[in-house]
Amino acid sequence: MIVNERVVSYIHSLEKTNTPLLDEMEKYAKKNYVPIIRKEMESFLRIQLLMKQPRKILELGTAIGYSAILMSEYMPDDCTITTIENYDKRIPIARDNIKKANLEHRIKLIEGDAMEVLPSLEEKYDFVFMDAAKGQYINFLPLALNVMKEGAVLIADNVLQEGELIESRYAVTRRNRTIHKRIREFLYEVKHSDELVTSIVPIGDGITLSVKVGGENV
Ligand code: SAH
Ligand code: MG
Repeated sequence: MIVNERVVSYIHSLEKTNTPLLDEMEKYAKKNYVPIIRKEMESFLRIQLLMKQPRKILELGTAIGYSAILMSEYMPDDCTITTIENYDKRIPIARDNIKKANLEHRIKLIEGDAMEVLPSLEEKYDFVFMDAAKGQYINFLPLALNVMKEGAVLIADNVLQEGELIESRYAVTRRNRTIHKRIREFLYEVKHSDELVTSIVPIGDGITLSVKVGGENV
């Protein structure tokens, strides 16, 4: 927990309820250990969508479709989401949820590894939600930037690893060292890239909020 647990509980207590489908999906996710976005991230995402008013959203990491369905409630009417997932057990569940939500025409689920799918995308996006394998963010980044319009928003989820990221690599268990190193590289890159202006926000499990800019704006 990055933010004091009581503060987070208090914030959660103020959240309004979701649609029955999202509530059902949330229960399923808890029961089956599917890592969906945290409550406080939901309203944060909503606000970003309302501010940005994107036409094309790209999501890396669909899981069971929770964040995609949630985003679709707050995106403009003519906006569509392309979402990528490579875990074959989750794909049919996500498809089923998208169908139940009547969003098959607005959410396009592409099966495959984001590293392979990203270079094959032909459209440009104005909002990217990166929420797949954290250790790959540094590799996803240049591919995502290639399909982002100037002015596009990039949000990457779970970048502070429950706060472990600030510990020295020697204090991190061996198992977590590679991911620790790679996320640090990602954070350095999004903060120092000429193409991005980035704020690291300690909400949920930590996110980065970036805007793609021309080199001269940085
Ligand atoms: N965005 C979802 C949660 C995604 S969990 C939500 O908030 O509802 C992360 C998902 O990314 C997992 O389902 C995992 O299988 C998927 N994933 C991890 N690495 C991936 C990759 N390289 N390509 C595609 N999907 C990936
Ligand atoms: Mg996440």
